[in-house]
Amino acid sequence: MSRTQLKAVLSEDKLPENYYNIQHDLPEPLPPPLDPGTLKPMAPEPLLRLFAKECVMQEVSTEEYIPIPEEVREAYLRLGRPTPLQRATRLEARLGTPAKIFYKREDLNPAGSHKPNTAIAQAYYHRKEGTERLATETGAGQWGTALALATAFFDIDLTVYMTRSSYNQKPYRRTLMEVYGAEVYSSPSPRTNAGRKFLEKDPDHPGSLGIAISEAVEDCVTHDNTKYALGSVLNHVLTHQSVIGQEAKLQMEEFDAEPDYIVGCIGGGSNYAGLAYPFMRDKLRGKSEAEFVASEPRAVPSTTRGSYRYDFADAGETTPLIKMHTVGHSYQCPPIHAGGLRYHGKAPSMCMLIDKGFMRSVAYSQNEVMDAGLLFAQTEGVVPAPESNHAVKAAIDIALECKRKNQPKTILFNLSGHGLLDLKAYEDKLADRLVDYEPAAADLDRALQALPVVG
Ligand SMILES: *Cc1c(COP(=O)(O)O)cnc(C)c1O
Repeated sequence: MSRTQLKAVLSEDKLPENYYNIQHDLPEPLPPPLDPGTLKPMAPEPLLRLFAKECVMQEVSTEEYIPIPEEVREAYLRLGRPTPLQRATRLEARLGTPAKIFYKREDLNPAGSHKPNTAIAQAYYHRKEGTERLATETGAGQWGTALALATAFFDIDLTVYMTRSSYNQKPYRRTLMEVYGAEVYSSPSPRTNAGRKFLEKDPDHPGSLGIAISEAVEDCVTHDNTKYALGSVLNHVLTHQSVIGQEAKLQMEEFDAEPDYIVGCIGGGSNYAGLAYPFMRDKLRGKSEAEFVASEPRAVPSTTRGSYRYDFADAGETTPLIKMHTVGHSYQCPPIHAGGLRYHGKAPSMCMLIDKGFMRSVAYSQNEVMDAGLLFAQTEGVVPAPESNHAVKAAIDIALECKRKNQPKTILFNLSGHGLLDLKAYEDKLADRLVDYEPAAADLDRALQALPVVG
């Protein structure tokens, strides 16, 4: 009798050679970014002061495939790509579901999340273009960790602005960035005008990703040979993440299965886009009926209760405006443990796909997602990041619905990272100390009313 296949592992020669760019297949072109001063559509040139030239070109590219440089592919291999795809048979059995549950292991590289997929590419392009120093922000610390690792590989200096709440709550994340050679500051910091402005209002300001972005951008434009790198939201970031879904497609074939549901958590949207878009390509071409489910926190309900409109990418109102589902850049995000899901907006391509009904979204509170994480750890053995638990919870809910309807469907979700540096979240959960936050309608209205009205 043959045993049930538990994992699909691709050999090194199956590592994708190209990134897949969803802009080639979107039902219509993305609305252009707007200049923050004039609110008029903006040419991409000013972005060159911030980003690598290659990334700016990818940002507006509609080419279907973008070659992955050999140096980047080598770094991916060094960090454990292709990553395994596993079947969660113990979780299936515990749920008593006829559904099959598969998950992609983006937790297994040394930084512990999917973020090196873009950090490596961005650091490589910057090195090639002569950048000597990068400035960036980090919320929970995963992006800072990934970029610290990547800049160590490509010999670039890195300064990280880390939201104060995480800086204090996650000291080991900070240490890990420093181990890789980065300089880390608590944000808001006295190093920038943006930081000082928020510190004057509140010397104990807990910080936010939007504020840290303002600080990193200001650091970039006020220093020579310093550039900036962003870990989510932008088109080129999502494109780099497409290695996840391209591998997963080959691996689902090895299982002789096709996903009916493709599930992921969304902070800015990059890990989920990475898994989903190579499959979405088939749906947009009428060749697949798969359902796409994006999972977000109830505390930051950008796509489930926010508004689809132009908003600033940062809290300081210095960046271009992009059209996205947003809760407003001035929204005060509650201190949930899933720090990577606290961003006010989501990636423009994903928002368009949600708006046009190709994808739907769900929202969960932090107690229910941490319960899902405990169940996953106790059945599959992997401790997911609090962010990833939003995907675990959504997958479990679909599996339970399959049980009620007795449907043997196939569910695929992205395990975007491990939670071994987030044990505080598990500690609080086990001690029954987790608070479920949900914004009052009036608070959401206030944040949305503060947005500029674009014609
Ligand atoms: C950053 C992060 C996220 C959220 O970012 P996306 O761009 O939406 O992927 C999710 N999970 C983990 C583990 C992260 O580090």
